[in-house]
Amino acid sequence: MGSSFSWSRPVLINVSTLLHEPVGHARRYRVEHEPVAVPEAGFAQEISGSLRLIRSERGVLVSAALDLAPVRVQCGRCLEMFETPLAVEFDEEYILDHDPITGRRVELEGDEFRIDARRHLDLSEAIRQYEESALPLRSLCRAGCRGLCPHCGHNLNTGPCGCAAAESDDRWSPLAHLQERPSTEDGDGAPEA
Ligand SMILES: [Zn+2]
Ligand SMILES: [Zn+2]
Repeated sequence: MGSSFSWSRPVLINVSTLLHEPVGHARRYRVEHEPVAVPEAGFAQEISGSLRLIRSERGVLVSAALDLAPVRVQCGRCLEMFETPLAVEFDEEYILDHDPITGRRVELEGDEFRIDARRHLDLSEAIRQYEESALPLRSLCRAGCRGLCPHCGHNLNTGPCGCAAAESDDRWSPLAHLQERPSTEDGDGAPEA
């Protein structure tokens, strides 16, 4: 299926055939690990999922449901970098400057996505924007991230630092030393290799 659909790098969809079809005609495609890139923004990604392209009055409406390659982000609690999967869904219309059938000029409203003169549609910039809004404002590396010790900055996911014992130390308490028993916990309990 999709003989009129061709990828090049960065990913471009040739919509010249669809543009000669009546408004409402649609195609659906599956993509697997196709690269997208906006070099001037330093953006490169890979998309997998489904795309539906519908001929609209002004061009092509793209409905996308895509998984992106995992993105490196910083944990908001322990500050470690980790990879998080991201998915985006969007509907965006890509606008022609001239209708290929009537030759009539299509009025643009400004900040719209464009179909280029060779009838190619590039999803890269839309994916860049939707990835940005899909990034969580505060991500955690794991559900129970223990964060950093507020006293010494030690990453508590790797084990206790000893400040907890010192904090609860009360110099007037004769029993203080009893709290300083060694911990047998080993961090998050993950099995050691
Ligand atoms: Zn963390
Ligand atoms: Zn500490």
